[in-house]
Amino acid sequence: MMRVRAPGRVNLIGEHTDYNEGFVLPVAIDREIHLHAQPRTDRRCLLYSETMDEQIELELDALRETPPEALPTGWARYVAGVAVMLMRHTGRLLTGIEGVLSSTLPTGAGLSSSAALEAVFAVLWNTLDELHLDGWTLAKLCQQAEHEYAGVYCGIMDQAASLLAQRNHALFLDTRALQTRHAPLPREWLIVVADTGKPRTLSGSEYNQRRMECQQAVETFRTILGEGVHALRDVSPDTAALYLPLLPEPARRRARHVISENARVLAFLDALARADAQTIRQLMLASHASLRDDYEVSCPELDAMVAACLHAPGCVGVRLTGAGFGGACVALVERAQIEPFLKQAEAAYRAQSRYTPQFLACESVEGATASVLME
Ligand code: ADP
Ligand code: MG
Repeated sequence: MMRVRAPGRVNLIGEHTDYNEGFVLPVAIDREIHLHAQPRTDRRCLLYSETMDEQIELELDALRETPPEALPTGWARYVAGVAVMLMRHTGRLLTGIEGVLSSTLPTGAGLSSSAALEAVFAVLWNTLDELHLDGWTLAKLCQQAEHEYAGVYCGIMDQAASLLAQRNHALFLDTRALQTRHAPLPREWLIVVADTGKPRTLSGSEYNQRRMECQQAVETFRTILGEGVHALRDVSPDTAALYLPLLPEPARRRARHVISENARVLAFLDALARADAQTIRQLMLASHASLRDDYEVSCPELDAMVAACLHAPGCVGVRLTGAGFGGACVALVERAQIEPFLKQAEAAYRAQSRYTPQFLACESVEGATASVLME
């Protein structure tokens, strides 16, 4: 019997930068998907998810000849996608499994349960079939699975966080160089995920729309600055100040968000090393304002949640996190003040919104792991 766990993640700063080859700073949190599984002698997968209260069945041998659209919609596609990517990459067959999924990670709340689900199966087969793939390779294969099988053209952040993070650290990720740095988190702060209760409606189509607008901005910058511009990453804040006015709207504001957000991630890393609460607060609020006004992915509930948390005791900083359009905010909160913080933030939010909020006080944890249980 094997037990695999993979955490969700929350991004401290660096939003909508990952698909622009920029910087992000996620933390893996102690809300996780768990899989208890054992190998089968055939190549079938029989899986039950307690979370979804649903059983699925996959034939691993048939998967490679089955186009993603031919699979039933839902979570089976993530499992199938990961299996196909692993088989394609290694040229190997995978072992059939039966198992049960359980989870403490809310789905569809911007905490990337889809990436955690992918990570669980990537680590399961990597261990079971001794594929010897490193964490980065697994992350890229999971990302590919999400692209091809879920139709969500996400960056690498979610999968990297769920697979590579370390306990008590945030994961700085340069999504161009695919380099990481583990940035220690001050022990006196907790990470609070403050879910607005508002489902992330329309997020898929708006997300793809923003990607297109960023691409437009890149193409305009390229005609001005030359072939060296491959992504918004290649435009410095100083250069942007000169040439942004030449861009059409809304590409101009989209680009301004991405370029300024990258600079904020680097400044945040510096401030984190000094546990400089004041600078961190400013950077998180500037990030939220930029996402709200320039990137236009906030909503009244997210704005209300930021205000509610900001004025609660012990709040270091707060901003919307994840793709936006509902979902959650992330706050850093002084550990010693967590009780009054939660009480006051919840009351303030409820007074402003008809949605029921949910607050998760989180510790940072290590990325996905597998262990073999002796029965
Ligand atoms: P997010 O990644 O922000 O949580 P997504 O819409 O990308 O939201 O992914 C949610 C989907 O991931 C669910 O609809 C489901 O298909 C799958 N999923 C997440 N957690 C589980 C689970 N415990 N069991 C089965 N499927 C899950
Ligand atoms: Mg997801």
